[in-house]
Amino acid sequence: MIRASLPRLESRLQALARFGGLPGGGVTRPAWSPPHEEARAWLLGEIRAAGLEAWVDAAGNIFGGAGTGRFDPGRAVVLTGSHIDSVPEGGILDGALGVLAGLECLETIQETSAPHRRPLALAAWSDEEGRYGSLFGSRAFCGLLDAARIPEMTAVDGERLVDAMARAGFDARRAGEARVPAGAVAAYVELHIEQGPRLEEAGIQIGVVEGIVGVRRARVVFTGQADHAGTTPMERRRDAFLAAAEWALKARELVVRRGSGRSVTNVGVVSVHPGVTNIVPGRAELVHEIREPDAAVLVRLARRVEGLARRVATRRGLEVEVRPMSATTPARCAPRVQAVIEDAAARLGLTRQRLYSAAGHDAQNLAAVTDAGMIFIPSAGGRSHRVDETSDREAIERGANVLLHSLLALAEQ
Ligand SMILES: [Zn+2]
Repeated sequence: MIRASLPRLESRLQALARFGGLPGGGVTRPAWSPPHEEARAWLLGEIRAAGLEAWVDAAGNIFGGAGTGRFDPGRAVVLTGSHIDSVPEGGILDGALGVLAGLECLETIQETSAPHRRPLALAAWSDEEGRYGSLFGSRAFCGLLDAARIPEMTAVDGERLVDAMARAGFDARRAGEARVPAGAVAAYVELHIEQGPRLEEAGIQIGVVEGIVGVRRARVVFTGQADHAGTTPMERRRDAFLAAAEWALKARELVVRRGSGRSVTNVGVVSVHPGVTNIVPGRAELVHEIREPDAAVLVRLARRVEGLARRVATRRGLEVEVRPMSATTPARCAPRVQAVIEDAAARLGLTRQRLYSAAGHDAQNLAAVTDAGMIFIPSAGGRSHRVDETSDREAIERGANVLLHSLLALAEQ
C-alpha cells in the first residue's frame, strides 16, 4: 500500500503557518488579507513544484491537478480540498490540513504512478471562514451564490468584498462564473480536524462524517417601552430586556428538550436600548442561532422558537420581530463516500466512527453538486478556532493516508 510522506506534509504545514503566523503560535490569515494573499501565491508555487498544473477561478478558488483539463463533464474529476484562510487568532490546521494533505496525496499518486481511472484535483476554497461571506468560494463553485448580494458583502471592519478582491486582481461581481459544469465532479472528499472532543474522548482514530449541521440565525427584536427606572411602578413596566431574557432561557430549554438530542443553540449577541442604568429598556435585540443535522428538525425548532418569542412578548405586553439572517441546509454525506472512507481506514488498520459535523464546511456545498464526504481526525483537547489548536503527528499521518486511499478508491468507481 502506498503511503503519504509525513515529513513533506509537516514541512508544508509549517511553511504555510508562517503566513499570518503569531508569535505565540497560531495564525491570523483572514480571506484576502495580505498574509492570505502571500499564502495563496505560495500555494500556487507548491502545486507547480509538485509537478501539477495550478489554476484559479473567478471566485478566487485555487486548484491543482494533473492533466485534469480543468472541469469537464466528459472527464469528471475526483476532487479533494479545504481552505487556507483562517479566523483571527486561529490554529494552523483548520483548513490548511485538508489542502496540504490533498496536495501530498496528489503528489504521492503522481510519484508512484498509482493507477487511477479518473483524474484527481485539489481545491483551496476562498473565504471559507466567512470574513465577507461564509463558504464563499465553494458556494460560487457549486452555483449557490446569490450574485445580487455580492456588492453588499462586507467584513466586520466595513471593508467590502468587491474592494478586497479587486486588490487581489479579481472582480467579485463575476464570482458566479466559477460555477462548475454539471457532472464535472465525480466525488468530493475533504480531510479536516474534528474541532470538537468526541473522537479524542472515545479514543477513535478516524471520524467518518455522516452529515453536516445546518445553521439558522435570526435577529430577535423585543420592543417595549422606555420609562423612568425609578418612578414607573413595576407592574406598568414593559421591559424589553426581561422579555428577551425570559425568551432566551425558554428557547434554550425548548431546543434541548424538543430537538433531536444533537440540536444546539446560542444567543451570541445581546444589546439593550437605550442602555443606561436609570431607564427601563425599551428595546432588546438578540442574535440567535440553532444548529442541527436534520433539516426537518431544524425548521421545526426555528418555528417553535419564533412562536415562543410571540407568546412571551404578548404576555408581557410587548412586540417582537424575528428577522431571519441566514439559513444553511444540513447536508448529508454520500453513503458511497462514507463507505470508501470506512474501507480505507479499515485497510489501514485504523479505528473509526461515524459522526456528524457540528461546524460548517465547504463539503456541505459540494454535496449539492456531487457525492461528498469528509474525514475527521481528532483535535487535541477538542480545541479549535484558537491558537493552540493541534493534532498529533500520528493523527495527521493517519488522516493523510485515509484521504490518499479514499481518493484512489473513488477514482476507480
Ligand atoms: Zn475549516
